[in-house]
Amino acid sequence: MSVQSDAEKRKQISVRGIAQVENVANVKKSFNRHLHYTLVKDRNVSTVRDYFFALAHTVKDHLVSRWIRTQQYYYEKDPKRVYYLSLEFYMGRTLTNTTVNLGIQSACDEAMYQLGLDIEELEEMEEDAGLGNGGLGRLAACFLDSMATLGLAAYGYGIRYEYGIFAQRIRNGEQLEEPDDWLRFGNPWEKARPEFTLPVNFYGHVEDTPEGKKWVNTQVVFALPYDNPIPGYKNNVVNTMRLWSAKSPQDFDLRFFNDGDYIQAVLDRNLAENISRVLYPNDNFFEGKELRLKQEYFMVAATLQDIVRRFKSSKFGSREAVRTSLDSFPEKVAIQLNDTHPSLAIPELMRILVDIEGLTWEKAWDITTRTCAYTNHTVLPEALERWPVSMLNSILPRHLQIIYEINHRHLQCVAKAFPGDSDRLRRMSMVEEEGEKRVNMAYLAIVGSHAVNGVAQIHSDILKRDLFHDFYEMNPEKFQNKTNGITPRRWLLLCNSALADVIAERIGEDWISHLDQLTQLKALAEDPVFQRSVQTVKQENKMKVAQYLQKEYNVNVNPASLFDIQVKRIHEYKRQLMNALHIITLYNRIKANPRASIVPRTIMIGGKAAPGYHMAKKIIKLICSVGQVINSDPIVGDKLKVIYLENYRVTLAEKIIPAADLSEQISTAGTEASGTGNMKFMLNGALTIGTLDGANVEMAEEMGMDNIFIFGMKENEVEDLKKRGYNAFDYYNANAELKQVIDQIASGFFSPNNPEEFRDIYNNLMYHDRFFCLADYDDYMAAQERVNEAYKDQSVWMKMCIHNIASSGKFSSDRTIAEYAREIWGVEPTWDKLPAPHEPIEEGK
Ligand SMILES: *Cc1c(COP(=O)(O)O)cnc(C)c1O
Repeated sequence: MSVQSDAEKRKQISVRGIAQVENVANVKKSFNRHLHYTLVKDRNVSTVRDYFFALAHTVKDHLVSRWIRTQQYYYEKDPKRVYYLSLEFYMGRTLTNTTVNLGIQSACDEAMYQLGLDIEELEEMEEDAGLGNGGLGRLAACFLDSMATLGLAAYGYGIRYEYGIFAQRIRNGEQLEEPDDWLRFGNPWEKARPEFTLPVNFYGHVEDTPEGKKWVNTQVVFALPYDNPIPGYKNNVVNTMRLWSAKSPQDFDLRFFNDGDYIQAVLDRNLAENISRVLYPNDNFFEGKELRLKQEYFMVAATLQDIVRRFKSSKFGSREAVRTSLDSFPEKVAIQLNDTHPSLAIPELMRILVDIEGLTWEKAWDITTRTCAYTNHTVLPEALERWPVSMLNSILPRHLQIIYEINHRHLQCVAKAFPGDSDRLRRMSMVEEEGEKRVNMAYLAIVGSHAVNGVAQIHSDILKRDLFHDFYEMNPEKFQNKTNGITPRRWLLLCNSALADVIAERIGEDWISHLDQLTQLKALAEDPVFQRSVQTVKQENKMKVAQYLQKEYNVNVNPASLFDIQVKRIHEYKRQLMNALHIITLYNRIKANPRASIVPRTIMIGGKAAPGYHMAKKIIKLICSVGQVINSDPIVGDKLKVIYLENYRVTLAEKIIPAADLSEQISTAGTEASGTGNMKFMLNGALTIGTLDGANVEMAEEMGMDNIFIFGMKENEVEDLKKRGYNAFDYYNANAELKQVIDQIASGFFSPNNPEEFRDIYNNLMYHDRFFCLADYDDYMAAQERVNEAYKDQSVWMKMCIHNIASSGKFSSDRTIAEYAREIWGVEPTWDKLPAPHEPIEEGK
């Protein structure tokens, strides 16, 4: 089978649309103008990167009028504003996303072709905006796309990290981290807004004055905003993501000026500007570093000033009657906290309302709780933010006082609701007294919010039953579920346009913004012609990935083999180790019986380990070492290949996921809050092997148990096992294959030069595995056998694939955002289409 040439592809009528001659001419003209005037180059000396920037500026020009118009429209209409506060926005690349959402992709493709340029080569020059670690940050990015597509007056607020998530290199099977200097060549999409710079205070102390508390003698850092355009899908809406950059004030550390050490004073400006220097690379882990606390407060303080300023200068807020009162603030503002990372928004809003605006505590508290809502993303205890009281006292003394006051009043409510229950008071206090005194930020976020949500049904149930049970008993009406979703624009239309075409041929293009329309494909699940076209697309995607692997890793993979993929952050709870146990078992079976016929597999694992996470780094090393043994064993040949995918990130996800046959979603039941990788695979026609955890549960409900390979302990069974006591040796001694695998890891079979290399992994698996890999091993192996059986009959497999795609409508982030809008934010999605830039704005619109 041959991969289509680009020229052939261009001629096809597809979801990219037909390039209009006029648009193509305009793109070429604008591109040449930018190459000349913006980049100051001619075609003789231009690099591919210059061409990328010229195209990016051309495309950005198409955003500008829509962006200004959208913001004007919000000012005129003054709808309730939604603020999504997040320490992470994992955006990836912007170029293709913008051309897709503006509907100018085909015009740009054609224009570049006519100029003799390879658009895919240009696209490859763009750096990922890697301002996130994994699922939580990517969720924020998908939400921005959906909020713009649904026509919500929404803003993303975060930090413009100078260095995003590190680039991962694998050398000798080990992870090396390289700083991600993503702004090196400039960022064509952002617009600095120095005129909206705001001060943020740290340290100092609190004085009691007749006019109330005063936070004085603080150190100031300026927050300089950069605006980034967020286009909706073909609706002429362009929202704003505003990211703050730390800037030292002019008078930074005057002491040195007095001492005459001018040079030192200038050098020390870096200290303040370090706040927005680098993203903390932890996923699902709380490190408790001072600089991180400063980042969180920096973002929150700048953002809340901006929100209050926008409220006061709005048509509504500036009316005489409301200028002096902020009573209507909650009717005009909704603030969503993406995990507890921005939860200082609660005491900060209280400080603004009480200390600055002079409201009573009761009034301020009513406004704050009606404005804020909190999304929880994990139940893992090591991930929950608990800031030492001593650190808060030094950096944010006034906020600590406010938190104490919030806690005091909260505990009075608890005592009233549950008289005489002193243990409950201890359990529900935001201030933990055991050991070093700490503030539990999740408790603060719950008490200060009118809505608390988990991110999949099972996760929301666990919050109510376990982690936040006491709080649930007191305020059951606060607790909600909002199952996560992904944007179908990036995760199908953009990354897999061939599949999008095959779908559009049968059911049109409505699904792009109404993903439930995909259910129409159920009628085609057994249609041999449709099966064939979906299969052909998958095969071509696999060949492209095979070429990529050949080029990048010099490995030869069999494109007819089953592509079995686990890509996500490396974490013990995600159980990449259990995947490794399966791989080693397959290897041992081939070696024991080389002539047996098996379903050939190419197994890919990818993901970054937090730089300080020892066990995660060992897991990477083990997978690489196992891969080396297997890939170089002539007995194995084409039957099994194991590849570690280096530097997994949004852009690599877009390349790899469309080529997957099998998606590995194998976390211990009860540990993965939702997962969103699982949804991306499903939408792209991969089958899932997974536990009943996170959103896998709802995926299985949508597609039916016949179309997914579910295995392993249920969440209640995991709880039972914990109570019973888990002994890994019970499983080790009961299964000869498993015993062999574990013994090989322990004895250095995969690390002959260092037999002790995987001692820690052995000890972990056998003595302190919190995630019970061995308990699920048997059932996992059996499920993998069912996968093989299904794959052998391609008509069975393709029917299942189509059922997966057809059932994925629920997992659009458009659905998720519509639920947040109606059930938490109190706004109605309009799905409005604004007039195009050349059209007049209608009166009264
Ligand atoms: C979607 C995504 C994730 C989240 O994957 P999970 O399997 O849900 O953990 C992480 N990283 C990247 C780059 C993603 O695109």
